[in-house]
Amino acid sequence: MNEADSGMVCRILDVIGYRKVERPEEADVVFLNTCSVREKPEEKAISRLGALRKLKERRPDTIIAVAGCMAQRVGETLLKRAPHVDILVGPRRLHRLPMLIEAARATGQTQVDLTLKDEPLPTWSHFLDAMAGSAEGASERARPRVESARASACTVYVNVMQGCSYFCTFCIVPFVRGTARSHPPQQITDEVKRLVQQGVKEVTLLGQNILAYGKDMGARWRLADLLEMLNEIEGLERIRFTTGHPRDADESLLQAMASLPKVCEHLHAPIQAGHDRLLRDMKRLYTVGQYLEMVNKARATVKGISISSDIIVGFPGETEEEFEESLRTYETIRFDQAFMFAYSPRPGTRAAAMDGHVPLEVRRRRLHALIALQNGIAQELNRAREGRRFEVLVEGPSEKDAKKLCGRTRDHRLVVFGGPALSKAEGPGSLVGQMADVEITAGRTWGLEGRLAA
Ligand code: SAH
Ligand code: SF4
Repeated sequence: MNEADSGMVCRILDVIGYRKVERPEEADVVFLNTCSVREKPEEKAISRLGALRKLKERRPDTIIAVAGCMAQRVGETLLKRAPHVDILVGPRRLHRLPMLIEAARATGQTQVDLTLKDEPLPTWSHFLDAMAGSAEGASERARPRVESARASACTVYVNVMQGCSYFCTFCIVPFVRGTARSHPPQQITDEVKRLVQQGVKEVTLLGQNILAYGKDMGARWRLADLLEMLNEIEGLERIRFTTGHPRDADESLLQAMASLPKVCEHLHAPIQAGHDRLLRDMKRLYTVGQYLEMVNKARATVKGISISSDIIVGFPGETEEEFEESLRTYETIRFDQAFMFAYSPRPGTRAAAMDGHVPLEVRRRRLHALIALQNGIAQELNRAREGRRFEVLVEGPSEKDAKKLCGRTRDHRLVVFGGPALSKAEGPGSLVGQMADVEITAGRTWGLEGRLAA
């Protein structure tokens, strides 16, 4: 979500005449987006801010903007620690950056906008339209440049809602991103159509709990209706969405996934814990039994579906037995992929005030045990795909091996591939943004290796 937000900020700044530079030392404005979900990303942001202090001393005209969830959570006390910050802006107010930059420049005063008003952030298309419509807004000169900058990416994120209205006891998100607000479906389809005209083949719709899409509007439409509308867009080839609260993975969604050809067979529905006492104290609103029922229904309804998860170990009070039982739950489910975390207390959340915090070394040991288990499962599932052929949307050269290409299968497996047929193709670059038929040669913990089918 932060990547999507930063992308939107880049495009907004591009419209008002800023261009990206390689290093902060060359910049007129430094934009630091931050995350609060665990302690570690906050520590990283603080250390980056420390480095920027020296830059500000050398170049006092540089505007330093700190944005996102940590700005929202820590608020103005951050300015005491970091007086060199010129702008403090929350995740729901990013579209106000042009005004804030102008005000910081004109007055030399620190600008703070941490409003969490209940309105959703405008999407990129709407922001662009508003700018183009206003007298001193984006000039026509700026538009094509922005759009061509967009054309190279064949797969993009699209925010469809802001915030979250669940209050899981470990989680800071509702405090810093506000309660859930959905963008109207028409606004999203307009945006996706515009992106497709620029060469985008795949969109990933984003929301903290995207399966609750529409509920806050008191409207009849749901995610399934939005998927149906997007499925009609000519030129768009794949639709993904993330992340979903398991409780909201209902029949209508599964039916939509099964019947709409462009909607990919992948559901990210984090379980968080595999034991009922933990789930209850996390206030996740489902039991292990209900989660298993959802998984069975999803696998029976959507052929070839992969199911991925986020998992937390070391939640307050987690005993060795509860942890072991959680592992057995994950062994039963066999997630295709999982993001795994040691619990990190977030100030102000209910869990942070609970008794029985698990010592850090125990949390770390449990995390390693979980990762070892999950790696084994993922590798087995990936090996079972050896010798088969899959459709891969080619995203670009592989980070692991620049001579190879990478992309994803419909069920979200990362594929790195090469082979004689690739060397024969008119430069591997010509395949980027295209669908390729790839034969799988090896299953790994991280994904699949393969060769381009002749
Ligand atoms: N809306 C998503 C979660 C967004 S936060 C959902 O409900 O699934 C992304 C992930 O970070 C969570 O799924 C959770 O596994 C992890 N996370 C959130 N708060 C955490 C904390 N305090 N400590 C450790 N991990 C946390
Ligand atoms: Fe946090 Fe997700 Fe729970 Fe919302 S649903 S409170 S974002 S973990």
